[in-house]
Amino acid sequence: MTETLSYDILIVGSGLAGLRAAIAAASKHKDLKIAVLSKVQVMRSHSVSAEGGTAAVLYDNEGDNLESHIYDTIKGSDFLADQDVAERLVNSIPKEIIQLDRWGMPWSRRENGRIDQRKFGGYSFPRATYAQDKVGFYEMQTLYDTCLKFDNISFFNEWFCTSILHEGNNFQGFTCIEMKSGDFYNIVAPAGIICTGGAGRIFSFSTYAYSSTPDGLDMAFRAGIALKDMEFVQFHPTGILPSGILITEGARGEGGYLINSDGERFMKKYAGEKLELAPRDVVSRSMITEIQNGRGFKHITGVDCLKLDLTHLGEERIKEKLAGIREIGIKFSGVDVINEPIEVRPVCHYMMGGIHSNLNGATEFNGLWVAGEASCNSTHGANRLGANSTSECLVWGTITGELAASYAQKKKNSSINIDNQQYLLEEKRIYDGIFRGRGDVNPYEIKKTMTDTMDAKAYVYRNENDLAEGLRKIRSLKELSWKHVNDQAKEYNTNFINVMEIDSMLRVAEVVLMGALNRRESRGAHSRIDYPVRDDNNFLKHTLAYYDGDKGPRMGWHPVVFTRYAPVERKY
Ligand SMILES: Cc1cc2nc3c(=O)[nH]c(=O)nc-3n(C[C@H](O)[C@H](O)[C@H](O)COP(=O)(O)OP(=O)(O)OC[C@H]3O[C@@H](n4cnc5c(N)ncnc54)[C@H](O)[C@@H]3O)c2cc1C
Repeated sequence: MTETLSYDILIVGSGLAGLRAAIAAASKHKDLKIAVLSKVQVMRSHSVSAEGGTAAVLYDNEGDNLESHIYDTIKGSDFLADQDVAERLVNSIPKEIIQLDRWGMPWSRRENGRIDQRKFGGYSFPRATYAQDKVGFYEMQTLYDTCLKFDNISFFNEWFCTSILHEGNNFQGFTCIEMKSGDFYNIVAPAGIICTGGAGRIFSFSTYAYSSTPDGLDMAFRAGIALKDMEFVQFHPTGILPSGILITEGARGEGGYLINSDGERFMKKYAGEKLELAPRDVVSRSMITEIQNGRGFKHITGVDCLKLDLTHLGEERIKEKLAGIREIGIKFSGVDVINEPIEVRPVCHYMMGGIHSNLNGATEFNGLWVAGEASCNSTHGANRLGANSTSECLVWGTITGELAASYAQKKKNSSINIDNQQYLLEEKRIYDGIFRGRGDVNPYEIKKTMTDTMDAKAYVYRNENDLAEGLRKIRSLKELSWKHVNDQAKEYNTNFINVMEIDSMLRVAEVVLMGALNRRESRGAHSRIDYPVRDDNNFLKHTLAYYDGDKGPRMGWHPVVFTRYAPVERKY
């Protein structure tokens, strides 16, 4: 018999968005029972690896201003951001930075004691508020510590959510597996917030944690909620080889630069003013163009790359401001950035797309919100500026936490009757279909082929043939008989969880490729060599994808919200 637990608010995900939402909800109504569910331990959420900074305007008396942050975000997005959403982000983030400071966040400081900010790509002013080069780690510590002060927040660590329970368009809860016992549960509540983060593990060369798979996106997708703008995948210019671990943009913010095999600082040809601090889509394209023109280096593994030079910054500054990436370079590339340039290559780093939501983070279901990287409220449009994501997590963590709390408070005395059929079907899908599946193909080989296909066919530069081939490949992998689990243990079965993740990865990879095929233009991070120009007449709109059973997604479009800024050509 499946056990049912009952709460007032369910938050799936304990990254920055989930923790911030929990605090917002818990402080709004102290008698609400809030559960934070996470498939990993809190501090293993990918947010802990954010390195470079959180963008905010702190010092308008020094020449910066909110309007400029809004415009930089919209221009960075290649005019696909919903402009009211970008305005909300920028107007709300300064108070979040101060709030974190009050809760004990060890922001790096200027000599006069005020919070310091560093330069980041695509911004007109130094706006990345930072804590050395470990901003996510310290933000997570601060938020988790604050959560522990509330008696009404309960953590369910290592609980894997598998589906959304709903009655029509009304949210009712989630089905979950408690990984430790292997037991299957229904957890019900009138209000839920999905904070399951990004899905960048659908690519092989990726900066993401191994847990960054699209099961959260897929839960919403299977329940009938649209995924939006999934073709827009950000490739960060500086992933180290061979692992793909990130060297923060903060390294370029501090003055590091990129060189080609002629020793040339090549970004001056592509972005004369901003150079290496142009937005990520621009820098990554420039790097691949250099490589294609024979001016790259060969890494020992045979992979083409360029070099990031920090040597001129000097030992003292590197040790003070970039200690984390120095350690990463030594441990994972065998290079001490104090002494020599480090080999880098564009790497999958962020998904601009996610679960379709509005200015308030509300989804198409009543009682269900989404915050953080799992969401697509269209803050970042076709290309996110660095440091704007942790900002988004904090701002929409707060917004959705408060809204969910008000909603749950109103529904406090109403009962939730779940449709037995729904969780029985879900049990059948995961236990009969996957756990006791009869597939004979190795699921880990399916995963490797899928992620390599995404690397090869949907990277920085794309074209019709590659994308169509990639889609055929993913569909053929879906068709293969691979669903099975070798380890039949009930308790703590990571093999089972991995195979469940692979199932969601295939569905979401298909959505990314479909979106990329349909968008016959180049905008932001989506660059088609067969349609090299941005086409505002036909494609100044968001992509929507709805689940349509085994047939693959049903595609549609959604309008972009404009307030004050007309699209112009992006120059840096
Ligand atoms: C290496 C790296 C460096 C970065 N640096 C910066 C930076 O300097 N500045 C910046 O602004 N942005 C940065 N980003 C981006 C930013 O860190 C992320 O977008 C953001 O932290 C995502 O937070 P989140 O709360 O949405 O999700 P995450 O932190 O990814 O957390 C996801 C949570 O969802 C849970 N979860 C997922 N699926 C399930 C499931 N099925 N059941 C239960 N739980 C589930 C996970 O356990 C986890 O707790 C960086 C990203 C990376 C990868």
